Amino acid sequence: MTFRECQRCGTCCEKGGPALHEADLGLLEHIPMSDVVCLRRGEMAFDPRTQSLQPLSAELMKIRGKDRGWECIYFLSQAKTCSIYSHRPLECRSLFCADTAAVLEAMAVPTLSRQDMVPQESALWDCITDHENNFPVGQALRLAKAETDFAGSICSELDDLIRREIHFRQVLADRVQAADRDLWAYLGRPLWLVLLPLNPIFSRYEHA
Ligand code: SF4
Repeated sequence: MTFRECQRCGTCCEKGGPALHEADLGLLEHIPMSDVVCLRRGEMAFDPRTQSLQPLSAELMKIRGKDRGWECIYFLSQAKTCSIYSHRPLECRSLFCADTAAVLEAMAVPTLSRQDMVPQESALWDCITDHENNFPVGQALRLAKAETDFAGSICSELDDLIRREIHFRQVLADRVQAADRDLWAYLGRPLWLVLLPLNPIFSRYEHA
């Protein structure tokens, strides 16, 4: 059966929150930065256009998921409703799963990046640049993929990279008195969490 209008089943919201586009900038007065996550360049992300996981050629900002998953933080699962419905982002307003033409068109609109959200003359921007230069996702993924058999251990170069990144984040979180999760819009997710889908061994850093 093909529906002519959205049935509000919530399946899309369960799969993940939307990426944010230039048209969504005005919504940021309703959406706190702590509810946003930066997916950094190099991270693997599902591309609905190709229906496959692809490394991101440029970072994007997205409404984050609940806990470690991707179900949209604004999805009220029991009521199957959106808690920011009147302020929902462009992709959500365009999405109709029986006909994805409109959302694919919306996805072609330029996405937001940290540059659009953080003043470049700020101390925070210096932290973001430092973090990006010292802990690139591409390097972590390359090292992780080079390990054909983890056999209970992680090579010292990757282990060092992950631990130094955790320390960097802790220092910043302590300085601004925030939880790590509140930094996801600025630093992305911790490297160990980005690597976790490759191997459960990376969960050992959760409480490092
Ligand atoms: S913002 Fe609202 S409509 Fe969009 S994915 Fe989240 S819960 Fe669904």
